[in-house]
Amino acid sequence: MNTHTCAVIFDMDGTLTRAVLDFDRMRAEIGIEGETILEGMARMGPEARRRAEEIIARHEADAAARSELQPFAEECVRRLRSAGIPIALMTRNSRPSVETVLSRHTLEFDHIRTREDGPFKPSPQPVHEICEKLGVAPSNAWIVGDFRYDLECGRAAGAKTVLFIETGDDPEWSHLADRIVRDLRDIPSLLGI
Ligand SMILES: [Mg+2]
Repeated sequence: MNTHTCAVIFDMDGTLTRAVLDFDRMRAEIGIEGETILEGMARMGPEARRRAEEIIARHEADAAARSELQPFAEECVRRLRSAGIPIALMTRNSRPSVETVLSRHTLEFDHIRTREDGPFKPSPQPVHEICEKLGVAPSNAWIVGDFRYDLECGRAAGAKTVLFIETGDDPEWSHLADRIVRDLRDIPSLLGI
């Protein structure tokens, strides 16, 4: 039963935190070319996969320990929570990395979904499962992210999509976004807060 009128589901890296993971370097170390890391790993044998997981864990732990928030990330989350809007974190990053990031910053969520919890973006399944937990219909959920997977999974789930890009031109996949924001303080405004 839906008890809230809307919810906001945030991506972590590059959205609430500054993007510091060097995916090109991670891909080079692992030996993956021309595709994203988790998708490349899905086809690996057990030994190569274990090695890849170690490389990723090292990069992610280092990035989490140095993590910095995007401007106004704390203010944005705080304003939404004070307005009683349920918020979630949905990331392809690992649970240990998220815990490290949250130990460094003042961010609180009603639900946290990491890649250990089942299918991840761009699958729409995590959006459906998060909405179920938050008591919100997917059509009333706002997915906020900086990468096309955030927008693709939001669209596929029937949610509203918000692309956050602080600087630079709109990417060629920006048509997947219902809204584009360049300042996280605009997120509460989108919801009329
Ligand atoms: Mg991101």
